[in-house]
Amino acid sequence: MYLISACLCGVNCKYSGENNLNEDCLALLEQDQAILICPEQLGGLATPRPSAEIIGDAESISTKGIGKVITKDGKDVTAAFLRGAKETIKIAKASGTLAAILKDGSPSCGCNYVYDGNFAGEIIEGEGITCTMLKDAGIEVISDEEYSKKICESKTLIFLSDYDYKRKEVNEDEIGESILYTLTNNDEEIITDLPPIVEKQMKKLVLYMAREMFDINDLDQLSEATGLTVKEIEEIIKESNHEK
Ligand code: SF4
Repeated sequence: MYLISACLCGVNCKYSGENNLNEDCLALLEQDQAILICPEQLGGLATPRPSAEIIGDAESISTKGIGKVITKDGKDVTAAFLRGAKETIKIAKASGTLAAILKDGSPSCGCNYVYDGNFAGEIIEGEGITCTMLKDAGIEVISDEEYSKKICESKTLIFLSDYDYKRKEVNEDEIGESILYTLTNNDEEIITDLPPIVEKQMKKLVLYMAREMFDINDLDQLSEATGLTVKEIEEIIKESNHEK
């Protein structure tokens, strides 16, 4: 279960009265995996409301009372932001939620960046008040953008486009929204960043694909097709036979 910034799931709670819909977050709501929160509304602020930015940093504001959150028209709304963060933590604790997905850039929910306090559209590294306080309370926090990236990577293709590719190097090339991992590149020595156990499984997979999909059974041709040495192939086949 995730605590999620409500605006990411299409709730019009943004200061402008709009939302920041993120389809990946909405999917979590549809799967009953989300508890929606809007810290600014929980703190008692209306929607729509004037935009607000942090002067100082969230950690100092929440732990030392140094710094503030002000609206574009100069009103100090720090107390409402702190109240909203505390209410959010209460909800997290009451629900046993251990992770939150928050909207980056917001003075409440920002995880990696916030606006610089000058209302000029400039962003700086930093966190929103709720993000900081959730983390201090032991809740894992990631931004909507990080979550979507994770989802995208989980759809990563492990791709063998043609058997004359040789498994030598792991290249990452952006292909649309997916990352294409080319297992094989040339016939130089084996280079891979994969952990040993994963590399071992990948060798097996490549070999299975060559045998089952391309119907190659001759050892030399298998070696040619997969980039594995004959000795490696023999070892994998021996190990597979042993497992049966
Ligand atoms: S406070 Fe958070 S949940 Fe509410 S509108 Fe802003 S970013 Fe969205």
